[in-house]
Amino acid sequence: MTITRRDFLSGSAALAMTPAFGAGARAVPVPREADIVVIGAGAAGIAAARRIMAANRKVIVIEATGQVGGRCLTDTATFGIPFDRGARWIHNPDTNPMIRLARGSGLDVQPAPLGQKIRIGRRFARAGETEEFLAALVRANRAIDDASNGKVDVSCASMLPKNLGDWAGTAEFVLGANATGKDLKDLSAFDKVRAQERNAAIACRQGLGTLIAKLGEQVPLALSTPASRVAWSGRDVTVETPAGKIAARAAIVTVSSNALAAGNIKFTPDIPRRPLDAAAKLSLGSYDRIALQLQGNPLGLARDDVVIEQSNSTRTALLFANIGSSSLCSIDVAGSFGRELSSQGEPAMVAFAVEWLTKLFGNESAAAVRKSSATRWNAAPFVLGAMSAAAPGAQPSRKILTEPIGCMFLAGEATHETLWGTVDGAWESGERAAEAALQKIGALRDSSTAAPAVKPRRRGAPPRPATPRAPAN
Ligand SMILES: Cc1cc2nc3c(=O)[nH]c(=O)nc-3n(C[C@H](O)[C@H](O)[C@H](O)COP(=O)(O)OP(=O)(O)OC[C@H]3O[C@@H](n4cnc5c(N)ncnc54)[C@H](O)[C@@H]3O)c2cc1C
Repeated sequence: MTITRRDFLSGSAALAMTPAFGAGARAVPVPREADIVVIGAGAAGIAAARRIMAANRKVIVIEATGQVGGRCLTDTATFGIPFDRGARWIHNPDTNPMIRLARGSGLDVQPAPLGQKIRIGRRFARAGETEEFLAALVRANRAIDDASNGKVDVSCASMLPKNLGDWAGTAEFVLGANATGKDLKDLSAFDKVRAQERNAAIACRQGLGTLIAKLGEQVPLALSTPASRVAWSGRDVTVETPAGKIAARAAIVTVSSNALAAGNIKFTPDIPRRPLDAAAKLSLGSYDRIALQLQGNPLGLARDDVVIEQSNSTRTALLFANIGSSSLCSIDVAGSFGRELSSQGEPAMVAFAVEWLTKLFGNESAAAVRKSSATRWNAAPFVLGAMSAAAPGAQPSRKILTEPIGCMFLAGEATHETLWGTVDGAWESGERAAEAALQKIGALRDSSTAAPAVKPRRRGAPPRPATPRAPAN
């Protein structure tokens, strides 16, 4: 039986890569001064820069790597078709501004494919078994929801019903590692309950990294230009890069919570402990994709089929098969198992993926592998992980990260209180930080004259636990 997206979303009450690496950006020489410097050209940085440009202020985005997109990275080189090495879906089409912008820029956006399937050993789950699984997800979600009635935050795992039977491991994978990059034991129940539903996933045929790069086309930006030091005060800021110093009246820092906490950028004076501790409590989970090009369709699956397995542990994966009718399949691993596997390197990751497919679909899959590639986001030096997830007790840290630090403003997915862990949240956070920075430099007279760039999204009602993004991530 196939689980439709609606089933997954209501049942779970929650399941959520740069053109051949970086074309399309408007590379400019690093200027000596700007009104606002944006550090990082991911979704948050591009959204911030666009908002600043709309206010007719001088902005420069500096990006450490050679491409635009950050954790949205579309690889068209390895397999000859767009392969999203990072984020794959955006959500909430009714309210998401990125979807309109994508259409306006000539890219094809389309609903993510319907139909997730469950494998039980070498066969697919029967209708009754699928219903049992959905019921288990509903019970697990309700139990985690109940945590919001308490005063003290706890881990999601501590709320799980003990009688999920054969579906316990799968439910843990779907709600924890696969949705957030962390196991349920490492996840704040408050953070998960507060998360806005990530419904109706939307894909970009050309890739989500391509989309962010496209939206950044008019933005002045300097690639391969890491910020090494930021000297800041309440009035101005100087950002040091290998290409020189940039003096500005404000800065927006969009680096990931792990990059911030790792101290990759030196601040003079040091930034206060409060935001640094908050970033550390919002550390990034682990989520990687192992891509296999399989000759002939040895799995016998349809275009864009998504498959999970009934597993008695979280040592499992999610398969996205025959991507866009191609012979490319991605096997996604996440959470503590994914972290351990990716630390062993690409050959170990590919070996796991082949062994996993063989277990579920038979020996033909191994013989059919023509090419492979695996992401290792935890080792990407300017990101250091996948998406932020709050540790138990750390939900308030998100708000702390939105507080100004002199004339610096933090942005990025970790700073979004309800859309954390998503591209949508990163985008909104960039717009929010740009508004704050523009206010700070007096470019907006007061909030009533601010451009309507940041419209608060309609919250899903009632608030629901984080959606294990349909065919997650
Ligand atoms: C494998 C994977 C799958 C995912 N799937 C989904 C999904 O399907 N849907 C979804 O909504 N979200 C998904 N996510 C999460 C999503 O990708 C992120 O939430 C989002 O892209 C974060 O954007 P950002 O702008 O906050 O940060 P980033 O994209 O990390 O941007 C920050 C930028 O700062 C740069 N930088 C760092 N240090 C410096 C420095 N010193 N100087 C200059 N630049 C610097 C980095 O290189 C980077 O480009 C996924 C993530 C991963 C890893």
